[in-house]
Amino acid sequence: MSPFDLRGHTSIVTGGNRGIGLGLASGLVGAGAEVVIWGRDADRNHAAVARLGGPGAVTAVACDVSSEDDVGAALEATLQRHGKVDSLFVNAGTTGAVTFPDLGLDEWRRVMAVNLDGAFLTARAVADIMMVRGRGSIVFTASVASRLGMPYNPHYAATKGGVRQLARSLAVRLARFGIRVNILSPGFVETELTEDLKSEERFDRAVATRTPMGRWGRPDDFGGAAVFLAGDASPYMTGAEMVIDGGFTIF
Ligand code: NAP
Repeated sequence: MSPFDLRGHTSIVTGGNRGIGLGLASGLVGAGAEVVIWGRDADRNHAAVARLGGPGAVTAVACDVSSEDDVGAALEATLQRHGKVDSLFVNAGTTGAVTFPDLGLDEWRRVMAVNLDGAFLTARAVADIMMVRGRGSIVFTASVASRLGMPYNPHYAATKGGVRQLARSLAVRLARFGIRVNILSPGFVETELTEDLKSEERFDRAVATRTPMGRWGRPDDFGGAAVFLAGDASPYMTGAEMVIDGGFTIF
């Protein structure tokens, strides 16, 4: 069997109903995985399930990852249906554009709650059941913003730096339980999250010009990496960061 064949494999993708998460889910489904999308918006969840036809099967569960109760209930629903989780994509995220020092505590906490609390709660719940099985793969979506100075959303950059270090710490801790933990760091990708930035002509052009590949990323650019990281194609890889940015950070 090809290491890229994910038939019989169950993946959770948080924030899988649109954007990069949908791209991850699409790659996984194409490789034969059964994918469970966790997202808050029932209509968007439904639309994503309808859109993701493929060899694998897709379902969705309503879940706010910043709520410990929601995460527990979503995991229970996932296990009831599939009985196991082979890979988890900790991808749900949000951002906001506020310059420092205008950044208020409410806005700071809003972004922390989804990007950091949510990542922690999701990974903790799923790692717990992966540890019992002695196998699994967890992939955190961080960002090139985890290393760059971001003047208009320092709170977002702080969460992504936190996510990267959370992932590296869990990689060390969970290796002894057969669980690999890796990081996916996108550059600028055309999604709802970046809609405002992309609509500013100067910014749009600056990203494309600064990116050696000459364009913004697209959600579909991430499906292959998801398949690689989810299963047997990357068996000795843990604590690693896969930067997918069209060369943005090397130029
Ligand atoms: P997006 O298009 O806005 O999608 C965000 C996803 O997260 C949606 O599915 C959304 O679904 C879900 N989500 C948001 N808050 C949630 C919550 N509290 N609980 C559960 N799900 C929640 O954003 P994206 O660009 O695809 O971003 C996905 C990830 O990639 C994020 O972690 C982001 O930081 C990271 N990233 C994006 C870029 C970029 O340029 N776009 C670059 C680097 C990293 P609901 O609204 O239905 O909950």
